[in-house]
Amino acid sequence: MELLYDSTRTKGKPVKASEAILKGLSDDGGLFVPERIPVLDQSLEELSGMNYAQTAYEVMKLYLTDFTKEELESCISRAYDAKFDTDEIVPLVEADGAFYLELFHGATIAFKDMALSILPHLLTTSARKNHVENEIVILTATSGDTGKAALAGFADVEGTRIVVFYPKNGVSPIQEKQMITQKGKNTYVVGINGNFDDAQTGVKEIFADRELAAELNEKGFQFSSANSINIGRLVPQIVYYVYACAKLFGQGRIRKGEKINVVVPTGNFGNILAAFYAKQMGLPIDRLICASNENRVLYDFFATGAYDRNREFVLTSSPSMDILISSNLERLIYQIAGRDADKNRELMDALKSAGRYEITDGMREALCDFYGNYADERETARTIRGLYEKTGYVIDTHTAVAACVHHKYVEETGDDKVTVIASTASPFKFTRSVMNAIDKSHDGLGDFELADRLSQLSGVPVPAAVEEIRNAPVLHDHVCGKNEMKQTVCAFLGIGG
Ligand SMILES: *Cc1c(COP(=O)(O)O)cnc(C)c1O
Repeated sequence: MELLYDSTRTKGKPVKASEAILKGLSDDGGLFVPERIPVLDQSLEELSGMNYAQTAYEVMKLYLTDFTKEELESCISRAYDAKFDTDEIVPLVEADGAFYLELFHGATIAFKDMALSILPHLLTTSARKNHVENEIVILTATSGDTGKAALAGFADVEGTRIVVFYPKNGVSPIQEKQMITQKGKNTYVVGINGNFDDAQTGVKEIFADRELAAELNEKGFQFSSANSINIGRLVPQIVYYVYACAKLFGQGRIRKGEKINVVVPTGNFGNILAAFYAKQMGLPIDRLICASNENRVLYDFFATGAYDRNREFVLTSSPSMDILISSNLERLIYQIAGRDADKNRELMDALKSAGRYEITDGMREALCDFYGNYADERETARTIRGLYEKTGYVIDTHTAVAACVHHKYVEETGDDKVTVIASTASPFKFTRSVMNAIDKSHDGLGDFELADRLSQLSGVPVPAAVEEIRNAPVLHDHVCGKNEMKQTVCAFLGIGG
């Protein structure tokens, strides 16, 4: 059955999946949402016999209904291949009574690889299907991990260029080194003097600039987005929740009818929204536990029904979650508003003008599947050390926020269902924070020596993604003000702007 995509801000005018992927964001500034959530047509038992690629096909075919079987299978097989350092793609590791779903075995050792290794293929396939002849310019704001994963995905992909903006002083040294050493003649990396929200706002403004779009079109370019607002990012993220449930079922860890809880370290709300969609599809998921760091805007939202970005922006040791505007939350707001585009637009306008909105009691009731909590910096470090001392298993700072919130949830509710914790980055991506938490006796060591130390300590080899940048030359050193992003893009494309 064909599935179309509505904008969260305008009624009517639904588009095909390939059109939604090409556009990224709807013309009215809204996000594309499937007009209904499809239901899995395979049982857990059937799914438990499938590998990752097969599971991906079973899930994605329900969403990308205008892709042929051959097109979709080709995208999947080009994405989930030897770029991943394990055939399993997403291993499920049990430690201290929870299952860590390791989403970091791709090219850049963070969970963004799960979607960004397939997005370039979904996008170029969509372009072909819609007879697009323009060169596609990917414009991305990153809090650290998206940038590198998008660069790795799009580098030297024919018919595309990619521009990545990151907060100059808001990402880890390894994250920055990963980006500024990026090869590929179609790549452009720019640091901005501002934080992630500034970068994201700047990118949204460039997307909304109709005049610029017309000028671009004349020169044979068009923008698209690799940010987590693209439906082509969201859909591949549903896959690993299905895979994890099926695997737990296949291993006899859960029985028929038994539900699990899922904990997701959250920033832009994409990963946890994928889990929410997975639940709507019929997966046996009970609570969706949303874990925040000290930027606890989502915790406050779940606790009070008010979303309020008017607060201090905190730089934490989990920078990929240092976000005050969680873009993907709009899809959930739209859903709990009864798919009422007018109501949603009203709230989003309030967010833009006043930095704040409040949902109704009725909408709050529809959030009962969610539980929100947060971990501060001390708790995050303590969680890394505690788990390491107890089991020898080392997790990164983002995952530790989730593990800590899981403990708080169990303490508060006594709910001890089987739990999957989304493990979103390799500890080798945030080595210094991880090592500071475990063992402080490393004063004066550089980032790469620290990685060697962490390897000795954890018994896990230094991942190839880190080895690769050890001695790589810096290829990008552009920095611009937060109000100069448009000029910067125009200069790269060689147009007036
Ligand atoms: C992006 C990211 C997150 C947050 O995911 P969202 O989908 O933006 O909520 C968490 N951890 C890591 C390591 C990330 O890169």
